[in-house]
Amino acid sequence: MQKLPHPILTGQRSRVHDAWGSGQFGAPRGGRKHQGLDIKAAPFQKVFAPFPGTITREAAPYRDDHRYRGLVLQGSGTWKDYTLKIFYVQGIISGEVAAGSQIGYVQNLGLKYPGITNHIHVEVRKGKQLVDPFSIWQMCF
Ligand SMILES: [Zn+2]
Repeated sequence: MQKLPHPILTGQRSRVHDAWGSGQFGAPRGGRKHQGLDIKAAPFQKVFAPFPGTITREAAPYRDDHRYRGLVLQGSGTWKDYTLKIFYVQGIISGEVAAGSQIGYVQNLGLKYPGITNHIHVEVRKGKQLVDPFSIWQMCF
């Protein structure tokens, strides 16, 4: 198990399950599978880069709802094979970041999904391959 240099946010607890579904990797989403891991997060909580790299672009979780934002972090150094896509985060910076740099803050998902456990959604790719964030890093508990 690789150890992340810095938590992505304070607490790092899994969303587990609520009326809107489960936050685990591979959980059903209609005909699809959940591609990431949902981590419990309060609106406006700070989000940090868990490893060093570059914020390469913004990423939108919904084509038809531009209130919600996201970021893509491409790792560098020993983390160069990893790309992180994080949704429901309002980014505050772009460019190079150190592990532990604040990269944004958590958005309020309750406006779209009343009663949902507020969270961020994290997808991890190693090269082009989608991987389970929990199984490689035990990213939350
Ligand atoms: Zn999710």
